[in-house]
Amino acid sequence: MPSTPEFQHTLGKAASFSGTALHTGEKVTLKLQPAPVDHGIKFKRKDLQEEPTIDAKIENLKTVERATTIGEGSVRVHTVEHVLAALWAMGVDNAVVEMDANEPPIGDGSAQAYVDLIRKAGVTAQEEPRKFFDVRETMHVESKTGALLVLLPDDKFRISCTQAGPNNQFSQFYSMEVTPSLFEREIAPARTFVYYEDVKPLMDKNLIKGGSLENAIVVRGDAVLSKEPLRFADEFVRHKILDIIGDLALVGRRIRGHVVAVKPGHASNAELARSITREQTRRSAVATPRTIPSGDGGLDTDEVMQILPHRFPFLMVDRIISFETETKCVGVKTVTINEPFFQGHFPGHPVMPGVMQVEAMAQVASILLFKLAKTTSRIGYFMSADEVKFRKPVLPGDTMFIHAELTKSRGERLAKAKCHCVVNDAIVSEAELMFTFLDK
Ligand SMILES: [Zn+2]
Repeated sequence: MPSTPEFQHTLGKAASFSGTALHTGEKVTLKLQPAPVDHGIKFKRKDLQEEPTIDAKIENLKTVERATTIGEGSVRVHTVEHVLAALWAMGVDNAVVEMDANEPPIGDGSAQAYVDLIRKAGVTAQEEPRKFFDVRETMHVESKTGALLVLLPDDKFRISCTQAGPNNQFSQFYSMEVTPSLFEREIAPARTFVYYEDVKPLMDKNLIKGGSLENAIVVRGDAVLSKEPLRFADEFVRHKILDIIGDLALVGRRIRGHVVAVKPGHASNAELARSITREQTRRSAVATPRTIPSGDGGLDTDEVMQILPHRFPFLMVDRIISFETETKCVGVKTVTINEPFFQGHFPGHPVMPGVMQVEAMAQVASILLFKLAKTTSRIGYFMSADEVKFRKPVLPGDTMFIHAELTKSRGERLAKAKCHCVVNDAIVSEAELMFTFLDK
């Protein structure tokens, strides 16, 4: 399976299988097709004229009763969560899911059939890096029905789930890191379970023509009815995790965080997917490169390098946006995944080291001093850093604004500066720096 978790993946080739649709009871063929980078997962209705596609995105969510339905315009696809869970957990970022009906074949009510299909097609790495959503602050959603989902920062995608039926019957707990091999072994075979009281009216109305004990476990009172015995003693909670993975795939980014779920359902899963997407939209909006004035107001990269002796990879300021006064200015640094320090700080969990932020503050403060002294024939040395605080992590993709103000400059040799760094309108670090200047 994929050995390069930082890169996007698609299927090695197309693969298909046929089965029964749960709601109509009709035969349906599902075909998985490879797709280019940044395509995401899209469903294609081959049975309709012009073969419309629907993006597997939370914006297209339509209903969450018993299963997850997405749609665009008047076109719908139902029960997308199991095939999405299989694709996402097996590492497929880009694919077309072609169907000649409005829902996938139900298989045995688990994700096994889709995993088998993905295995048949193969999973292959692509050229572009994956897009991640890093949980920075705890998020949560709660529903009136008692569902609670909490999302905590973590360097892996983990799910810990507690499931309980009516009167806390069949209470089960399961916790795991979501990896292709663990998903395939522990989660994919877990089947859908339904309560007899819930499905009886639907069966009477003939709304689940394809439903049978071959593709669902039916719970009636204390009895567990299914054609095949339980595959795991805690099969129900495992299936809940399967549904969470499938519903959160609608975020369209790989989540680095820990989902702690209590009695989750499609509605609460979708609500969490929506919160994540809203937070991502907010982050992208504030991270959009602002028009940075150049010319008289600031210094471009060349001008910065004429003043500072620092060079890649140790130049920590891209340019100076503006000088507010002779003793106060703002610099900017775009932090990219290509910074050499991310390789080791930390593998798989890139965070900008705090000392590099202090270095960025020192470089911006030095520019102020060099401008004041009107010479670059000297070099500044750090003497002390006081009141250093690191408030929030700085991550790849962040634009860091470095504010510096000279508060004291004794003679021409000694200076003190008050500095702070800002990302997304929040202070991420601050320090009071003292340095001295020596001739080069
Ligand atoms: Zn399910």
